[in-house]
Amino acid sequence: MVVLFPYAEACDCFSLPGGVDRLRMEAKPHDSEDSRATSHNSRETELLALADRHLLGNYRPARMVLDRGEGSQLFDTEGRRYLDFCAGVAVCCMGHGHPILSRVLAEQAGQLMQVSNYFFSEQNVLLAAELCEATGFDRAFFCNSGAEANEALLKLSRQHHHQQGHSERTELVAFEGAFHGRTMGALALTGNPRYQEGFGEPLAGIHHVPYGDLEAVAAKMGPRTAAIFVEPVQGEGGVLPAPEGFLSGLRELADQHGALLMFDEVQVGMGRTGQLLAGSAVRADAVALAKGLGGGFPIGAMLLRESLSESLPPGTHGSTFGGNPLGSRAARTVLSFLQEAGMLKQVRTRGERLGRGLEQVAQKHSDMCLGERGLGLLRGLMLREGLAARDLLPVAREHGLLVTAAGPSVVRFTPPLVVSDAEIDEAVQKIDETLTDASTRA
Ligand code: PLP
Repeated sequence: MVVLFPYAEACDCFSLPGGVDRLRMEAKPHDSEDSRATSHNSRETELLALADRHLLGNYRPARMVLDRGEGSQLFDTEGRRYLDFCAGVAVCCMGHGHPILSRVLAEQAGQLMQVSNYFFSEQNVLLAAELCEATGFDRAFFCNSGAEANEALLKLSRQHHHQQGHSERTELVAFEGAFHGRTMGALALTGNPRYQEGFGEPLAGIHHVPYGDLEAVAAKMGPRTAAIFVEPVQGEGGVLPAPEGFLSGLRELADQHGALLMFDEVQVGMGRTGQLLAGSAVRADAVALAKGLGGGFPIGAMLLRESLSESLPPGTHGSTFGGNPLGSRAARTVLSFLQEAGMLKQVRTRGERLGRGLEQVAQKHSDMCLGERGLGLLRGLMLREGLAARDLLPVAREHGLLVTAAGPSVVRFTPPLVVSDAEIDEAVQKIDETLTDASTRA
């Protein structure tokens, strides 16, 4: 029998009563004559035509329509099977269709979905308490996405100093290659001119310096600095872990200058790197979470220290849906899944297996690859200059593997945290085939 949720070996309560074999049997061979021939006038053709007509063209989605998922596998409307090493971009940590997550969400939807922030809800209060207990932070604010979590951090940074009588402290230090989201504040922190073009003047007072360069940070710090914003591992920037001593160096600089230290753990938090929080070795003042927090249900959070508990007084910030009971129940389920004995260790060992496999692939295709890097189940295959990661994605898809690009030259692997050894080996084989295929086409 195929073990779909491997962590179930360590944890009975999350086990799945079989079912994947049936899906595998139903799945059509990838890219077969049969599946391509029948795609004419298929459900896929109809849906793509509707998408072309009615969806805003701000994305460039692949020309297929995903229909259902189970564990680390996805199936499109034509029955083609994909190994999902995207997982909603580091979101679906419990895999697709997890029986516990689906059941509790269905239960909660029938009980209570939304109450607004005029009232408490049991699920939200318990989530706040459990997240604080698990991470060592003291207070939580909830929202719906990563960008919103960073907006909250940004507003907190400035409002905190304002409340202390230092309204002049509005400047922020952030990093080149960072990604913090697409709302105007988060976009200003992101600092990528390509994403900012056409949107007018970005928020003032934000300095971007090279990631890992403490001297460059020190040069921008001063009496007007409100906070430093950093990803403990740059995700979109190319799967780049912080160099040794960098985060602790930032802590020292923030303390020297009376500024706050903010960690954006939207992509790397909630177990992705094999730790509950990737930057937990260094004490941040506040942290942004989203993506994996709800396991696929949209929820974001800002966790902060007691010393900041008065920094956003009533009326200064809020969100209608933030902390709704449905999202809170999803996040509580994810948190208890991550707290199962051995779960985070398993992420680390599976991550090492994936890293080893990718390193071998990089060596075999050394004409195209420079190597691999990453932590836990966030890994990147680095391509040589002149090769675009984006160009490999459709080839990988033809081989039945879904991966994403992180920056121009890194192919990113973010499978569900429940991915099995066998699925990792299969993905490594598929990326090997992808590179072989791409080199013969070039
Ligand atoms: N911060 C980081 C580190 C991210 O990786 C992302 C998304 O990729 C965001 C913020 C923005 O999150 P969202 O797309 O949920 O707004």
